[in-house]
Amino acid sequence: MLRRKGGKLLTSLCGVEVSCIVVVKGGSGMVLMLYNTLGRRVEEFVPIDEGHVGIYTCGPTVYDYGHIGNFRTFMAQDLLRRYLKFKGYRVTQVMNLTDVDDKTIRGARREGVGLQEYTDRYAEAFFKDLDTLRIERAEQYPRATTHIGEMVRLVKVLLEKGYAYQRGGSVYFDISKFKDYGELSGIKAKKIQSQARVEADEYKEEARDFALWKAWDEEDDGDVFWETEIGKGRPGWHIECSAMSIRYLGETFDIHSGGIDLIFPHHENEIAQTEAATGKKFVNHWIHVEHLMIEGQKMSKSLGNILTVRDILSKGYSGRTIRYLLLTAHYRTQLNFTEAGLKQAEASLKRLDDFLHRLKTVEPAASSNPDVHGRCAEVLRRFEEAMDNDLGIPEALAAVFDFIRETNRLIDSMGASEKDLQEIRDVMLRLDTVLGVLETEAEELPEDLRRLIEEREEARKRRDWARADKIRAELLAQGVVLEDTPEGATWKIIKKQSV
Ligand code: AMP
Ligand code: ZN
Repeated sequence: MLRRKGGKLLTSLCGVEVSCIVVVKGGSGMVLMLYNTLGRRVEEFVPIDEGHVGIYTCGPTVYDYGHIGNFRTFMAQDLLRRYLKFKGYRVTQVMNLTDVDDKTIRGARREGVGLQEYTDRYAEAFFKDLDTLRIERAEQYPRATTHIGEMVRLVKVLLEKGYAYQRGGSVYFDISKFKDYGELSGIKAKKIQSQARVEADEYKEEARDFALWKAWDEEDDGDVFWETEIGKGRPGWHIECSAMSIRYLGETFDIHSGGIDLIFPHHENEIAQTEAATGKKFVNHWIHVEHLMIEGQKMSKSLGNILTVRDILSKGYSGRTIRYLLLTAHYRTQLNFTEAGLKQAEASLKRLDDFLHRLKTVEPAASSNPDVHGRCAEVLRRFEEAMDNDLGIPEALAAVFDFIRETNRLIDSMGASEKDLQEIRDVMLRLDTVLGVLETEAEELPEDLRRLIEEREEARKRRDWARADKIRAELLAQGVVLEDTPEGATWKIIKKQSV
């Protein structure tokens, strides 16, 4: 993996951000409209604290490699996060890792390894896949197993307030006590059978009293348990997210999100138990991402139709191509995954790459082109208008490709000065703070040197240190310094040195 460290790119990006604050944010005054599952309508997004947005996203259950359906949801959340930052907000995003639940315990027991050893493996793979897809890191990734104390405290409050009851060592939430139960998902009240209990974390059909705390059962849980004031056992999945979101974002926060399959029961249960405990509104804005489909069905492990990021990389597609494909559909429409879609994504990326290459290599004109500035302002306005409309990415991308076509035409006819070309490039980089798809590294590092870095990574994997060192020296002679990190080598360009 190649990552650019420091240097010109970042500096120019910062420069763009500063100038664009004046042009785009200050000038536009455009408001962000987002669909809210709670209430089922598009609303103006207004954060609790001016200028800052708190987001909780239900993260992966680390019991296996994530599939690209999971990553569709994480990508949409990345787009939201990046766009909020584009609008000038400071973002605090918290994404939990579910490292204790029915599935993780089952997996660890099947392999005969400890729960942590088992979940660490998939947590590490998850972070690697995030990097491959250029998904920005959240501010916090709390793990359920290190927040048991918070969960126990929350369950105790629910017991004290009479919203929860104990049976056979487990603690259940009594949904009949929470009058707004079903408001998020619209699950019919008549289907609610109070005191009909469910042990499993995942269930679909009917609302039932769900487990906040599960009594230890040697057969199911083996050595996974905590000795606590509410008994020996482990938390239910739903309480994990309530406890961790309160801990990091407070009792009421701005945005909570996940895939649409989490609306019921997971998010419905999170609302019930949190609001029952705090007496306050839990979340202002609920955002749910539609499914990634494959051959007409939801991609899911239980249907056996999954593809991981690794599967697609091994077919020769890049992480950037997968990112582009997952990015293109609006988050509230289903996205059908096909190989043809990957090919189309490659073609679109090539158009972007060719355009950037042209900006770099075209001979600048002596005088400025009077139309360039207007085009730049126009694409930024159209992009923001589209994204403000519930993250309308198809229209936003259409604006970008129109800009490329029109700007190419301007350069063909009248040429563009050095300053014009820089303005166009800055606009593309500014838009890419949201899209995250431009190949800026490849542009700056010639293909033969990139190949050498990859060859060295291969040599390191083979433990062929002599070859790896030889390549490092060759690269240094070409002015490229390598730094090895646990995620792979990063590089930066210096002045050529003799070795
Ligand atoms: P899990 O690791 O199963 O807890 O899921 C992580 C996230 O992926 C959740 O937000 C799910 O709603 C989401 N998800 C699961 N399957 C799909 C799919 N086929 N398309 C989009 N999102 C999905
Ligand atoms: Zn959750």
